[in-house]
Amino acid sequence: MTASVFSNRHLTDLPEAARIEWAPAGVPSPRLLLFNEALGDDLSVPAIWRRGEAAAAVWSGNSLPDSCCPAALAYAGHQFGQPVPQLGDGRALLLGQLPGPDGQLRDLQLKGSGRTPFSRMGDGRAALGPVLREYVVSEAMHALGIPTTRALAATSSGETIARAAGPEPGAVLTRVARSHLRFGTFEYFAHRGDVGALRQLADTAIAWHFPALANRPDPERYPALLEALIEQTSRLITDWLRVGFIHGVMNTDNMSVSGETLDYGPCAFMDAFDPGCVLSSVDQGGRYAFDQQGRIGHWNLTRLAECLLPLFGADTETAIDRAEALLARYPDAFQTHYRAMLAAKLGLAADEPDITTADADLGERLLALMAQAGSDYTNTFRQLAEAAPDDPAQETSMAALLGAGADGRAWLQDYAARLAGRDGQAPAVSEHRRQALMRRTNPVVIPRNHRVEAALTAAEAGDLEPVQRLLDVLQTPYRASPAAGPFTQPPAPFEQVLATFCGT
Ligand code: AMP
Ligand code: MG
Repeated sequence: MTASVFSNRHLTDLPEAARIEWAPAGVPSPRLLLFNEALGDDLSVPAIWRRGEAAAAVWSGNSLPDSCCPAALAYAGHQFGQPVPQLGDGRALLLGQLPGPDGQLRDLQLKGSGRTPFSRMGDGRAALGPVLREYVVSEAMHALGIPTTRALAATSSGETIARAAGPEPGAVLTRVARSHLRFGTFEYFAHRGDVGALRQLADTAIAWHFPALANRPDPERYPALLEALIEQTSRLITDWLRVGFIHGVMNTDNMSVSGETLDYGPCAFMDAFDPGCVLSSVDQGGRYAFDQQGRIGHWNLTRLAECLLPLFGADTETAIDRAEALLARYPDAFQTHYRAMLAAKLGLAADEPDITTADADLGERLLALMAQAGSDYTNTFRQLAEAAPDDPAQETSMAALLGAGADGRAWLQDYAARLAGRDGQAPAVSEHRRQALMRRTNPVVIPRNHRVEAALTAAEAGDLEPVQRLLDVLQTPYRASPAAGPFTQPPAPFEQVLATFCGT
């Protein structure tokens, strides 16, 4: 295999002030802990960078391929609602790009590779636990079919780093993304009032992620970019809600322009359904609670739109009207995707135009019952998929999940009536179609917090096997199998993880 040659589009396409060329600090004694072979194949990573010392040296930043011109990227952001004009890669470094299987470039970034000019008070390092956490959860998201950054490698650094909870082993994650452009990248230049750089950034975002818009005349292509981002973001968040994912830190600097889930810190998957579920230790006020995520997407897009206004045309009033009109469509767009997602979770209809209000109501009623009973979000839908709704035996098993009351029974009867086409609202759904749709919409296995924590604890003690086993079973999250069995169990009360940490 020819040695991979990195592209360095960050040096050619981005405004100059968007990056600082910078070398990784290096680590004392790197050891490769995990390498993602499938992703390595996708990126045609040569064998020498997959195992042993040479691989550890590359993915820790100790020895870089000749073609890499690494840089730290600048960005700003709104953190918990407050503007922060200066953030940036304080512990990450963009190595360059390799082509993916679709021929499009992917960024390869080291996270935890040392201080940069953006580090502020931080040490530029990452601890092993959070590195493995991002590795496991981002790969799980990918296997769930949700756009996300990926994990190519995890390397231990041989260094002990200081964290609030005490000393921890250091590590470096190699992250792969369609790009590392964030909403906050736009905010960085908006704060500086640099319209020329904003235009270059917007054109680059279009060229990289929305090439179909590139030929639109100026200024038409900038509202088109906002419109595309509104659509992309509302779809992404709907996907999170489908699997019970809570990002935990939806600050605008963690929102990706490429439409990928970005920055896995104190993120979590919900076990028992609770619409207001907050697990992130940094989210004291519940701003980023499970059911707030759709609304926050709108808020974040509004901050992005404010940055793009100067590109919409010379007349500010007209620009604002235009942006407001586009943003005003978000709630409906989000609702449409959300309702279709809920209907698919029930096996009713896969296509948005086919969703009736009655179907959406049926979904909402089920969620209300589940919230009341504290039903497991993942297992309830899967159990519903596996049992025949007209079967009286179903009532007993579902009662355990939905609560035994009359409301639960009434819901099951209405669901059965809907499937049989007896409710007069929509055509019947065959059992085969229902199950097929439910089985590809509702996962069997998610990275449950207690499982993730247990695997990370073992890894910190030197045993990587539980992490490996978790990664394996999360590769096929929609497939019920004996191997998946133990990973489908909700936590026992003593296993319950009450808060997740970013550990930075
Ligand atoms: P995050 O909370 O991971 O989204 O990071 C927010 C900001 O803090 C970003 O600018 C990071 O680069 C920076 N940051 C987080 N951890 C560290 C660290 N250990 N050293 C330097 N900068 C950091
Ligand atoms: Mg971040």
